[in-house]
Amino acid sequence: MPAVADQWAREDLDALARQGLRRALEPLSSAQGPEVVAGGQRLVSFSSNDYLGLAADPRLARAAALALESRGVGAGASRLVVGDMDAHHALERAAAALMGAEAARLFNSGYAANAGILQALCGPEDVVFSDALNHASLVDGCRLSRAKVVVYPHADARALERLLAEAGGRRRVVCTDAVFSMDGDHAPLRELAEVCRRHRAALVVDEAHAVGVLGPTGRGLCEALGVEADVRMATLGKALGVFGAFAAGSAEVVELMANRARTFVFSTALPAAVCAAGEEAIAVMRAEPARREALWRNIRRMAAGLRALGVPAEPRSAIFPLVLGEPARALEVAVQLRARGVLVKAIRPPTVPEGTSRLRFAVTAAHSEAQIDLALEALAALEVRVAA
Ligand SMILES: *Cc1c(COP(=O)(O)O)cnc(C)c1O
Repeated sequence: MPAVADQWAREDLDALARQGLRRALEPLSSAQGPEVVAGGQRLVSFSSNDYLGLAADPRLARAAALALESRGVGAGASRLVVGDMDAHHALERAAAALMGAEAARLFNSGYAANAGILQALCGPEDVVFSDALNHASLVDGCRLSRAKVVVYPHADARALERLLAEAGGRRRVVCTDAVFSMDGDHAPLRELAEVCRRHRAALVVDEAHAVGVLGPTGRGLCEALGVEADVRMATLGKALGVFGAFAAGSAEVVELMANRARTFVFSTALPAAVCAAGEEAIAVMRAEPARREALWRNIRRMAAGLRALGVPAEPRSAIFPLVLGEPARALEVAVQLRARGVLVKAIRPPTVPEGTSRLRFAVTAAHSEAQIDLALEALAALEVRVAA
């Protein structure tokens, strides 16, 4: 048996373990939802991104089952070869309508979308400006584009403007999370859009944690703020409860994605069943705004409860970080909460900066008031002190 990589893996895993950064998988033996079974224990979960409680909705499962029957399991090829099916186009039309965009292009995940969008739009002669706290998939998208990458200080439109004024480049693109995934704060999109307009830069906004959550009709932060972006990325894996993602924009931008984005061109198409479930999720989300209202009641309850415990918290998204500092501390508090029936995973570097290991609570429309109170009471009993 070849043992070269095995030796490397042992060394690296040992090093991660010494730093408290080794990760471990832990399978659920239940469907996704506010209550899950992990390690034989029934727990109230605050770590999923199933913000509207759709992941285990039987209507989505039924839509998938029907498509499975008629279209089979695998797409069999990339979309540009023979993997393209009616189900992909139906979902793209639904996604464009959901976003109020001219068109939308599916990708196999949000990660694949972000890796492909920037690379499709720009190349070595161009400059991409990226928020310091952008999601890893945008960071990797910057690298794959081969453009010069300028990282601007988090949410700082004035710093961005100075950097844009100094930068040359054939094309300039600014990319940002709408809601930042580990802090739950918002990008200053109005200011960013204004800076982009003044400097003729394109704006790419990742609405992963904002679609289904923010905006009068749930289109995300651009809708909430009345901002136009060149491309909006949204994942179907979070609030919509399914899998896959799409880029929404003009018909030409979307057409370019199919021609240039490597993660679109060189990857097998999504299964039709996943597309059918995605289309049903969009229909349910649009028909049932009460889900978003329930989510916001829970967001406000969680924010008020955390503040009463002295934890800084704002009702601005479904994400509530409890920053604890060192990785070992975050792991220890997660174990203590679990003993009280609360499942929340520790988030450690490199997902978050050094010294800011945290528990990241996410509330959903499906949590009951009692379940939210259980988390708040467990935190109160532990008298958790947050890092300054
Ligand atoms: C989760 C996430 C992604 C990736 O989406 P997937 O569909 O899970 O691959 C991209 N951007 C942000 C900000 C995210 O939080």
